[in-house]
Amino acid sequence: MPVYQAEALILRTYKLGEADRIVVFLTRDRGKKRGVAKGARRARSRYTGALEPMTRAGVAYYEREQRELVRLNFVEPTRSPLSAASGDVLGYVGYFAELIDECAPEAHADERLYRLGSSLVDAMAAGAPAESLARYFEYWLLKLQGVYPSLRSCSGCGGALGEGASMPPRDTILLCQACAPAGGTRLSAEAMTFLRRATTIAPDHLVSLALSARAARELETAHRRLISVHLEKELKSARVLREMRQIR
Ligand SMILES: [Zn+2]
Repeated sequence: MPVYQAEALILRTYKLGEADRIVVFLTRDRGKKRGVAKGARRARSRYTGALEPMTRAGVAYYEREQRELVRLNFVEPTRSPLSAASGDVLGYVGYFAELIDECAPEAHADERLYRLGSSLVDAMAAGAPAESLARYFEYWLLKLQGVYPSLRSCSGCGGALGEGASMPPRDTILLCQACAPAGGTRLSAEAMTFLRRATTIAPDHLVSLALSARAARELETAHRRLISVHLEKELKSARVLREMRQIR
């Protein structure tokens, strides 16, 4: 049985039998894996505190021939989302992990996706504001998936997207104000500025990048459409986040 050691992000876990868990994790070098963590559900397990979604860890696992499930040997956390400087961001951890899980190809390395997820863990520890971090993450994830429309030119006339842009109803393109039909999702100058800045900075610098609640909503609406079209479904964790906000 070949044993592999890797840097990884924990994405989610499932119960397995009485005492074990199945752990879904994204490795830097060999893509997404599912592994059995023996005894992880026992009270005094060596995995206690190591399997929270969005934990970055060193892992070792055995791969068995003809089997999709690997067997975890150890998980040693190097950074936990529980070290996040802002409590708000903890509400987003499940959402970030679910999005990465949905976008990560099985057993196929995607180092850029791994690096994005890993930088998110660092940004949470650095105190990046939850809303900015969520919109930044969605932008980069969709961009890496090749589905983010151009921020530079209008998909209608090819002209420059100036101060603002609009996503037409039931579409995933960005149009300039002259081309935009009525009833689309408007992205204000502030939202466009945030996106353009997001293309150039690491997420731990989001602390100094302003994003008003209104611009955050505009981006959230546009990103939700891009994500649901791309994944052909709406994520459960995204619905939960919206409901939590309505209660507050
Ligand atoms: Zn146009």
